[in-house]
This record gives sequence, C-alpha cells and structure tokens, in this order.
Amino acid sequence: MSKPTKQPVIPPDGERIEYADGELRVPDRPIVPFIEGDGTGPDIWRAARLVIESAVEKAYGGARAIRWTQIYAADRALELFDEWVPDETVEAIRTFRVAIKGPLTTPVSGGHRSANVQLRQVLDLYACVRPVFWVPPVPCPVKHPEKLDIVIFRENTEDVYAGVEFRAGSDEADRLIAFLDAELDAKLRAGSGVGIKPISEFGTKRLMRMALAHALARGRRSVTIMHKGNIMKFTEGAFKDWCYELAAEEFADETVTEQVLWDEHDGKLPDGKILVKDRIADAMFQQLLLRPDEYDLIVAPNLNGDYVSDAAAAQVGGLGIAPGANIGDGVALFEATHGTAPKYAGQDKVNPSSLILSGRMMLEYMGWREAGDRILDGLKKAVAAKTVTYDLERQMEGAKLRKCSEFAEAVVENM
Ligand code: NAP
Repeated sequence: MSKPTKQPVIPPDGERIEYADGELRVPDRPIVPFIEGDGTGPDIWRAARLVIESAVEKAYGGARAIRWTQIYAADRALELFDEWVPDETVEAIRTFRVAIKGPLTTPVSGGHRSANVQLRQVLDLYACVRPVFWVPPVPCPVKHPEKLDIVIFRENTEDVYAGVEFRAGSDEADRLIAFLDAELDAKLRAGSGVGIKPISEFGTKRLMRMALAHALARGRRSVTIMHKGNIMKFTEGAFKDWCYELAAEEFADETVTEQVLWDEHDGKLPDGKILVKDRIADAMFQQLLLRPDEYDLIVAPNLNGDYVSDAAAAQVGGLGIAPGANIGDGVALFEATHGTAPKYAGQDKVNPSSLILSGRMMLEYMGWREAGDRILDGLKKAVAAKTVTYDLERQMEGAKLRKCSEFAEAVVENM
C-alpha cells in the first residue's frame, strides 16, 4: 500500500463537483474526499463505503460512481503528520465540495480544539442538518415514534458556540465586567466567567434561506422557528424576527404565517404553501413529545438546535443511528453524529447506521436520489428483519446479532 500523504491522491478518471449560480454540478465520476475517523471510525467507514458504493451501482448500473480520496484529521493526522487538522484536508473539502467523515477524537480539556468545530468554522459550514425519523422496530421510549419525522436546521457558527468566553477571575473577564458596569450600566457579579452570545441578521437569514429552500424542495409543510426570544430579546428574539423577515422578503409566494393561516384560510394550509411558525424553546420540547406530527422542519440557533437534535433522536431510539451534515454555500461535510466509541475500536462491532444514513444524505445532496432511496430502503428492511448490531440486538427480542460489516452486507442484500 502506498504511504499516506497529506495531499489527497486524485483518482485518474475522477472529476470535480462544481458549484455555480447556487447549484451543484455533479459529474458522473465525482471525486469525494473521506475521513475515516478515529476509534471505531475505520470500522463504520468500511461498512458505509460498501453500502454507498453498492447503492450507486444498483441505481445507475455503472453509469455513475464515486471516486474516493482519503484525507485526514484529529488522531490519525497527528499520528501520520504531526498535525491536528492539516491545511490540505480543509483545502480538499473546499475544492471537491462534498466530503464525508467518521467521528473524530475531541480532547476533553486543553490540548487541541475540536477538529469537528474547526472544520465547520474554517469552511463556514453554517447549517448543521439533522433528519430525525423512526426506523421500525427500533425500541424507543414513546408510544408513537412513527409520528416524528422532522429535519432540524441548526445554526453552526454563532450563538454561544462562537467560542467567545473568558474564564472567571481572568484579566479579560474582569476588564469586561468593569467595562459593562462603567459604560453600559450592566452589572455582573465580580469574579464571574463571561461568555458572549452573538446572533446576527446575516447568519440567521442565510440559515432560514437554506431551510426554506430545503422545505420547498422536499415537500415539507411547515418550518418552525425555535427560540427563547421571550427572555433573550435581542439575540433569540431577533433570530425569530429575522427568520420571519426572510420568509416574507424571499418566499412570500410560498409561505404563510400562522396569523394569515387563521385570518385568511380558516386554519387550513393552502396546497403548495409552507406554514412558517415559531415556538419558544422550552415549549418546543413538550410539543415534540405531545404533538410530534405537527412539526416538520425546525430552524434554531446553535444551542437550542444542539439540545433539540439529540432529544428528538433519543425520542425515536436513534441517537446511535441519526445522520447529520454540516452544510455551507456549495460545500458540505456529511458525518456520523455519535463519537468514536474508542473501547470498541477495531472490533467490527458497532452500528454503522449513522454514517450509512449520512451517506444517503450525501447522495441526495448530490442529486443522486435514486441511490439514496436504496440505502434507506435496504437499511429499513435489514432492521425490520432484526438483523442488527449489538446495540439494538440487546434491546430487541428475537434479534439476530450481526457484526458491523455483516450489518452493512445485510443492508446491501435488502436494497
Ligand atoms: P461515543 O463515542 O458516542 O460513545 C458513547 C457510547 O455510545 C458508546 O460507548 C456506545 O455505548 C454508544 N455508541 C456510540 N457510537 C455507537 C455506534 N456506532 N454503535 C453502537 N453504539 C454506539 O461518546 P464518548 O465516549 O463520549 O466520546 C468518545 C470520543 O468521541 C470523544 O473524544 C468525543 O469527544 C468524540 N466525539 C466525536 C464526535 C464527532 O466526531 N462528531 C461526536 C461526539 C463525540 P455502549 O457502551 O453502551 O455500547
């Protein structure tokens, strides 16, 4: 085997995905970079790759095929090149526009910054997109998991995740507290740690634009703005206002608000329109449990989106199988949403579904929908037949235990 290089190896007949006028142009042999990831990453990547390649082959009979090229980040990059996130990795994703990754180690305190966060920020992947739906008969804590079928668009670059934080007792925190007191008459307790929560019109509107475009393209019937604007008026409240503004400015013909729905349409959504509504963050959690079928697409600032993504995934028993993507304008990185599960590394044991379903999202994003549909179909049938990995097998009566690679084979057989 050739020695790994930081610079991605270009497959001879591969071509670049291009982006023009807001649209991807995907050739029949697109070059797609992948990061295996750390811990169990290589296990689940092998499984996901088999499934993605088989789906493309079955859907297009050889007329289309992905030309993979390997890139590196986190532990593996450190081991090979003594770098945490090599510039070549960032550049490859920027150049080839669509990439996929397994989970990456995040040092808990000190050391390197999260490579995941770094990639999102450097590449300006401003939307974290998480579809959440139930795959029967995955065990879950609610009575009607089938009623939840949503996609969450979480802002990825602002809010408390912008990383502007000062340690309690630091010179910076003390100076900021003194400034707020002296200049803005805002009093904070001396010795507090301080974090800044920026939310901008630009950041909010581009997220809402992407969310509404997705809702239109996928036939979603409503977009719900999740915010805590009753308390944080100028950040979360402004997020809500800017989302409504964007809908009115750019999607007036395709959307109606709840007010208009009741004033003009007697509560019945006209055909072809998307309902734009908002919910206070705490109520949103209740609503998703009590009336899940009234929600379709949720758009949220970073922290709300973080919480609701995991809560919704847990509701359908699928934290370990929920897929995700980080998407910017013409650049997207698809990923497993769980961590590296290092204790199972190299055992061919863990569930590859999250990365497999992220692969499905990737194919859909590329416009290769027929192949994406095959992945979902194969995965649903494999799970329905109860041929599952250890995590589901231990919860399902009568299930047949499969290794990570065997589960991938079962998905392919069921496509
Ligand atoms: P984790 O790797 O997600 O693992 C926690 C537990 O979740 C595992 O022990 C296992 O449970 C279960 N699990 C995770 N993935 C699974 C899979 N594919 N199939 C079946 N079960 C799975 O979380 P962690 O131990 O907190 O984090 C480990 C490392 O991953 C840390 O460095 C963390 O920062 C990083 N991380 C990376 C990402 C990312 O790259 N996107 C996300 C989260 C965490 P059982 O033990 O019960 O079997």
